[in-house]
Amino acid sequence: MLGISACLAGVCCRYDGQANEISALEQLVADQKAVIVCPEVLGGLPTPRTPAEIVGGDGFAVWEGRARVVDQTGCDVTLAFQQGAKRAYEKLQAAQVTTLILKAKSPSCGSRLIYDGTFSGVKVNGVGVATAYFKNHGLTIYSEENWQKALRELDGD
Ligand code: SF4
Repeated sequence: MLGISACLAGVCCRYDGQANEISALEQLVADQKAVIVCPEVLGGLPTPRTPAEIVGGDGFAVWEGRARVVDQTGCDVTLAFQQGAKRAYEKLQAAQVTTLILKAKSPSCGSRLIYDGTFSGVKVNGVGVATAYFKNHGLTIYSEENWQKALRELDGD
């Protein structure tokens, strides 16, 4: 069983109320070969919501207490992001998920690049809050940029 960022499977849960659907991933969910998680919604945040970025580091730094998540109005939403990551992990565990395909560049789901916390469109190396939590718990992470590789590896190619 795969885990997929809900917005990649067509759920309109992005901060702007949109989705980033990839039809092949939607089909995996329809075929019950994947479960979806949206850490930000699971953390209790509304949709749409004010965009947020990590300030002071990446998702690993958030869990180490060296960075925080702040929305564009200056509101600290770190706890909601952390709670959502934990709830998403519980859901993934219940479904025996070990491999995930996550939305790129998100402050929750990003796995290679994230925005730098200045809301100026600048990207830096780093992972999101949920991605860091999943990695810290041994899950394998792919993104919308290399999801085909995840499917090939799951098929044993
Ligand atoms: S990137 Fe992750 S947290 Fe953001 S909307 Fe998609 S699933 Fe939810």
